[in-house]
Amino acid sequence: MKTKYNFSAGPSVLPKPVLEKARDSLIDYEGSGMSVMEMSHRSAEFDGIFRRTESLFRKVLGIPDGYKVLLLQGGATMQFAMVPMNLLARGGKADYVLTGNFSNNAYKEALLFGKPISVAGSTKDENFRRIPAQGELTLDPDADYLHLCSNNTIFGTKWQYIPETGRVPIVADMSSCILSEPVDVSRYGIIYAGAQKNIAPAGLTLVIIREDLIGDPLPGTPTMLNYKVMAENDSMKNTPPCWPIYISMLVLEWIVETGGLEAMRERNRSKAGLLYDFLDASDFYQTNADAEDRSLMNVTFSTGDEEKDKAFVAEAKEAGMSNLKGHRSVGGMRASIYNAMPREGVSYLIDFMRDFAQRKG
Ligand SMILES: *Cc1c(COP(=O)(O)O)cnc(C)c1O
Repeated sequence: MKTKYNFSAGPSVLPKPVLEKARDSLIDYEGSGMSVMEMSHRSAEFDGIFRRTESLFRKVLGIPDGYKVLLLQGGATMQFAMVPMNLLARGGKADYVLTGNFSNNAYKEALLFGKPISVAGSTKDENFRRIPAQGELTLDPDADYLHLCSNNTIFGTKWQYIPETGRVPIVADMSSCILSEPVDVSRYGIIYAGAQKNIAPAGLTLVIIREDLIGDPLPGTPTMLNYKVMAENDSMKNTPPCWPIYISMLVLEWIVETGGLEAMRERNRSKAGLLYDFLDASDFYQTNADAEDRSLMNVTFSTGDEEKDKAFVAEAKEAGMSNLKGHRSVGGMRASIYNAMPREGVSYLIDFMRDFAQRKG
């Protein structure tokens, strides 16, 4: 059976109306006779797309003055290097909270620069079932920044609070939760996100950076990895990822049309709530994340039996639901229910889960 609902963790589902618009402008962008993919990034048409995209990011996320919006390449993973390269020339040390695979990768990347990098908190011993509480964090008041990953895509947990760090700026990887709910940007020094979960197709990286953090990179920082260069050149030191930028503009327009981030949060809470309520009431399925720290975007669960998990993923695929296999470090299943996953997709999954439990329980 062909895919009816795509639960991929990323690249992931995009809103249907966005794909339809993109299909039309694939050949001819608003009567220009050219595809967006064929346009010069210095053309008036693309300049319009770029400016509108930036202003929509500002509007939708409520980005205050004093922050730059950068549209870069290299994915969230490149930010794992770009952040320490650009921020560690100050005091020369940073704190990292380890709450899963990606925060761990960010930490390991920071270690490459030979500076003292500390683990400010970790739930590794509990297989990242939860997020450490404020009281469990060991924070250095002189750190250049505290790095955390707001939503842990693989383990299915999410920070439900923003830690108090005094004057130490927080750098947050929001790849898998950006645009899923309102965010108080003013509480962060840097927010970054790979686009391919909730923003656009792969190839674009959003960076929102407080202006005072721009401009003092470590010696030897390459031109393309220097926030100052990218900020001064409006992210166009070289050719930007034009097509994903264009799609992100369409996604942001779709978010505005559907009520903005408050409405998005309501829909996301309600969608995730359906699934978690079902899981909590079931004695056939178990969840991986502690109830207080559960993600709205990535729901991880299992039957507790590897063979049954395998059968679940295979049969779900037959029923038109793709990419439900959990990440190998967690096992079981993962349903990624990003903004573009319709509520009917979640209900369809739950109906299947109920039926599967009855047959195999
Ligand atoms: C997917 C993901 C990444 C990796 O993103 P790339 O853009 O592929 O580098 C990093 N962090 C989080 C939280 C993710 O979900």
